[in-house]
Amino acid sequence: MIPVICPIRSTLRLASVRSASAPCTRLFATVVPYHPRRPMGKKKSSTPSEDHLKLSNHHSASESSTPIVDTHTHLSSTFNAYRSRYKEAKHSTLLEFMKAMYEGHKVEAIVDVWCEAPVQKKEWKALADSAITEEGRNKDWGGIQYWFVMGVHPHEAKLYTDAVEKDILEAMAHPRCVGWGEIGLDYHYDNSPRETQQEVLTRQLRQAVRLGKPITIHTREAEEDTERILKAEVPRDHKIHVHCFTDSPEFALRLMEHFPNLYIGITGVITYTTNLNTAELIRRLASSSSSLRIVLETDAPYMIPSNIYSSLPALAKNGGGSLRLPLSHTAMIPWTAEFVAGVAGDGWDTEKVMRDARANAGLVYGV
Ligand SMILES: [Zn+2]
Repeated sequence: MIPVICPIRSTLRLASVRSASAPCTRLFATVVPYHPRRPMGKKKSSTPSEDHLKLSNHHSASESSTPIVDTHTHLSSTFNAYRSRYKEAKHSTLLEFMKAMYEGHKVEAIVDVWCEAPVQKKEWKALADSAITEEGRNKDWGGIQYWFVMGVHPHEAKLYTDAVEKDILEAMAHPRCVGWGEIGLDYHYDNSPRETQQEVLTRQLRQAVRLGKPITIHTREAEEDTERILKAEVPRDHKIHVHCFTDSPEFALRLMEHFPNLYIGITGVITYTTNLNTAELIRRLASSSSSLRIVLETDAPYMIPSNIYSSLPALAKNGGGSLRLPLSHTAMIPWTAEFVAGVAGDGWDTEKVMRDARANAGLVYGV
């Protein structure tokens, strides 16, 4: 189930991460705050040892299976969550942590998301620059294709300024930047006034359209306004990824009909019993087409697919249930794909979902 939301920005957690970190010799140990879309998990006392974060391969994985592409992950936030949850953490830099989690999982590409205001200039540039050349990607990323998008999240719309926009425009010119986002409307939390959210969304859409950049949309309980603004501002053929979709299937279908290059982002939230919309949408898509217009994403560190616990018997508790992992990461994507295949029904399996989603990631972001 989706736990209760903590609306407090995680400055305390950030401070504790800073003091807990060993003095870092590597640039990539820098800590960046994360926006609290959802909480990290349950209480500290129930956190399993960090060894459990390193997963065995999903049962569908093989030499010939489709590699993992995660179209939406917050790398810095995931590393922060890891460092704050594990005081004696084994990995002291983001790159070390990421490589350890992904090792052996055929991770081909990730789209990292920077959506804070003000822009974390030093941090995004350090990561993106390290991935410009093949040599750099082999050395720092274990050969993974690192890409990123940038924008200001609706939670932080009230912090959008000309200076922030200038910083985003600078990032848009970077060779590893593949889109503008995540931007949108979130009326569930209302962390910024709705009018401000709409203004800032419109402003960012105009820039993205002007530059021809794919757009990553965050929309939650704001169907009417999101649809109205997108249709007014974005040309029909523009590339759009509606990330971590949880709203009504009808809303998704209307957007997909209007925008032929719009794809729906599916995270582990599809596995939650409190969210039936996402599975219902998959059912409808699968019943009307032999391929799915979706991309797979983690939204890490959030949205751990709940079916992963059946692959982690060591976490089972006496008397039922299991210890919960404190964060998600890219290697969990096949569990979400497996769940999607189960919902889609006859003729679908994990591999086919992975294949469709991988092709779509290329269509929307060129990755
Ligand atoms: Zn996100």
